[in-house]
Amino acid sequence: MIVAEQKPIEEVLKSIEPFDKILVLGCNTCVAVCMAGGEKEAGILASMIRLAREKAGKLVDVLEKTVERQCDDEFLLAEKELYDKVEAVLSTACGVGVQQLSALLQIPVLPALNTKFMGGTKDHGTWSERCSGCGDCVLELTGGICPVSRCAKTLLNGPCGGSADGKCEVNPDTDCAWQLIIDRMTALERLDKLLEIQPAKNWKTARDGGPRTQTREDVKL
Ligand code: SF4
Ligand code: SF4
Repeated sequence: MIVAEQKPIEEVLKSIEPFDKILVLGCNTCVAVCMAGGEKEAGILASMIRLAREKAGKLVDVLEKTVERQCDDEFLLAEKELYDKVEAVLSTACGVGVQQLSALLQIPVLPALNTKFMGGTKDHGTWSERCSGCGDCVLELTGGICPVSRCAKTLLNGPCGGSADGKCEVNPDTDCAWQLIIDRMTALERLDKLLEIQPAKNWKTARDGGPRTQTREDVKL
């Protein structure tokens, strides 16, 4: 999932300051799972905004709605009549959702969240980065542990030498990704795979090649 967290309320209040009628638009997919921008969080944020503006003596009319996914026009366009009623939309989606809606509207679409990374649930309330979307997955070579997103130096050819007691030298609270890879490959009895010479990774498929687009001709309408 895409993991995000709410911006500080002061920052949100500043961004909506010029507006007297806004829509707080939640997103019920990734950001709902990480408890940052789903229906419940969007509702709490809307209440906080109303209270803060009331306290400041500058009332604001806050409409609320949550859609299934803000990264799909199909769900966004279904709420078209709501956008006509407000001066701005405060989106609790990730940065993708904010941009998707912004491209459809002639009014400001403001982010309520800071989008962090693609990750998985570690335990309740903790999420860990797991993928950087490099576009050429190497997990079959690394025992299902991603060196691109989990090694602080994105090393592909083994540990840097700074690893100590299984922890990363960049952040001792983090496991060394290469220690994890070697332990996992040892357990899988596939350690010899790491000795195979691999061609240089083509980073053009990653973000380094500029913004990416994917088209599936077989599903296009
Ligand atoms: S190798 Fe690339 S695609 Fe695979 S998990 Fe890592 S960043 Fe994601
Ligand atoms: S200690 Fe391990 S995870 Fe940290 S930068 Fe070096 S190889 Fe990567």
